[in-house]
Amino acid sequence: MPNLKYEMLIDYHLHNHFSPDSVADTAELLKMEHGFGVRHLCFTNHAETFDKKEEVAGIFKLKEATTRFNEIQKELAVMRGRFPDMDIRFGVELQYQPEYMDALAQFVKQTPFDFILGSVHIIDGVLISGGRHAKEAFKPMKEHTAYTHYFEDVLKLVEWGHFDAVAHFDICKKFGHLHYGPFKPEKYKTEILRVLKAMKAKGIGMELNAGSLHKNCHELFPHPDILKWCLNVGIENFTFGSDAHELDRAGRYLHEVLAIAKEVGITHVSTFKGRITTRFKI
Ligand SMILES: [Zn+2]
Ligand SMILES: [Zn+2]
Repeated sequence: MPNLKYEMLIDYHLHNHFSPDSVADTAELLKMEHGFGVRHLCFTNHAETFDKKEEVAGIFKLKEATTRFNEIQKELAVMRGRFPDMDIRFGVELQYQPEYMDALAQFVKQTPFDFILGSVHIIDGVLISGGRHAKEAFKPMKEHTAYTHYFEDVLKLVEWGHFDAVAHFDICKKFGHLHYGPFKPEKYKTEILRVLKAMKAKGIGMELNAGSLHKNCHELFPHPDILKWCLNVGIENFTFGSDAHELDRAGRYLHEVLAIAKEVGITHVSTFKGRITTRFKI
């Protein structure tokens, strides 16, 4: 008899020391997640690396990524032995950059991922999800230009399609809100619905991301109104993610994510093995 309590909380967005932006120890992360009641999780390290001066937003090299993700698989095999009551999956977070999409398709084809997140972190060539330039990136841009360019790239990512769920769907608001005030999804409903319909057509799910629930914009990604539109459009797969890069974020706010999911009418969360979905009632 499966323990339903533990099947509700999943963390399908997590970075460890193999990610260029994290030094977190894998066993310590797993202990932390376990303490919060998480039994299903997936490590989704970045496929790309970053240059130290952050002059470019990301660099993808197929050979480097292949070697690094082989090492990740080896470590996860050891962790599965040490944490037998946890379902530990092998994933990746792919960043949309037009010049790398063919190489990323090749990477996805040759690597046995359980689950793949697709992300947009860049607006008009500038990394807006974090790093030195993220806050200033919005200064020279008007809200409408910044946000429509962002959602246009999310649409291109979805049309490319070699992944399972869109990560932090409206991360443009993370620092955008500092310049433009609170994000109002209604203003971009046309652009957003276009993306959601493309996701439905491709069978791509939506992530509920806790990364900025208690910092930056203090909101879930995506805004709950967007989750309601997902249900109206017929999107079926929803995942939860802490997006933790550090120990103290791992698994911490997933109970709140679960509460928001239930409130908007989401009835199931999805887990993935070999990119095949299993849904659990919440
Ligand atoms: Zn991301
Ligand atoms: Zn991430």
